[in-house]
Amino acid sequence: MNLMEKINNVLNMGREILQNNNIDISEARLLLAFVLHIDTSELITRDECTSNEVGKFLVVLEKRVNGYPYAYIVGYKEFMKLKFKVDKNVLIPRSETELLVENVLKIIQSNKYEKILDLCTGSGCIAISLKKNANCINVTASDISNDALNIATHNSEVLNANVSFIQSNLFENISDVFDIIVSNPPYIPTKDIEQLQIEIQKEPIIALDGGIDGLDIYRIIAHKAKEHLKDNGYLCLEIGYNQGESLKQILTNEGYKNIQIIKDLSNNDRNVICRK
Ligand code: GLN
Repeated sequence: MNLMEKINNVLNMGREILQNNNIDISEARLLLAFVLHIDTSELITRDECTSNEVGKFLVVLEKRVNGYPYAYIVGYKEFMKLKFKVDKNVLIPRSETELLVENVLKIIQSNKYEKILDLCTGSGCIAISLKKNANCINVTASDISNDALNIATHNSEVLNANVSFIQSNLFENISDVFDIIVSNPPYIPTKDIEQLQIEIQKEPIIALDGGIDGLDIYRIIAHKAKEHLKDNGYLCLEIGYNQGESLKQILTNEGYKNIQIIKDLSNNDRNVICRK
């Protein structure tokens, strides 16, 4: 028998479970709407749900309480006003990363650049939002992980972005030369990973781990990007909140010029931009 439950009671139960686990209670409405396959605005028009639906809601709440990120449960994340499919194979796009996209867009517009490479593309969020906001550009994106590339390709198709994808461990399978190379590579020091929030630990370690000091991937990118940039081309990277000075050093040693560290709204180092 499928008993009916009052929506309000179900929602309150969800809120209580979330609150007891220090999770934002506003997610209860979002998760219930997800389980019921309706928009949150339609929740008020529904008076009841079945005990079967309550069961599904409980399963989702349990996942959430166990640290499974909200974006992986609902299967998408918004970035630059676009909806990106995500799953456990890709890093969830962060709002901080929009700063990198905005900075690259400014460079594209003021220099009329057109050939762009996005390394470590993950969900494809950087490459695809660049292409959608500057239609005239030619964007290539790469990732070491085929599972990530499947998601990125899906996002590019659904969003009608026409980005080209290449499976590659950094520059290994890349032969072309670009006006701009952009990347938000893994940059967390290995020893810090187990101290991260439980939710972040559910994301792919390969997308987070930047080696002993978090800078391993930057060293490789800084060294190799020179072979893949046109003269005066730009290298644009997202960096960790305290990595600005280290990056300046690495890039200076590799001979880059006009090195600029850009802070985010919280006054943390967030982007580094330089030229070959
Ligand atoms: N470029 C993707 C993003 O910024 C993935 C980054 C990564 O996997 N380190 O979300």
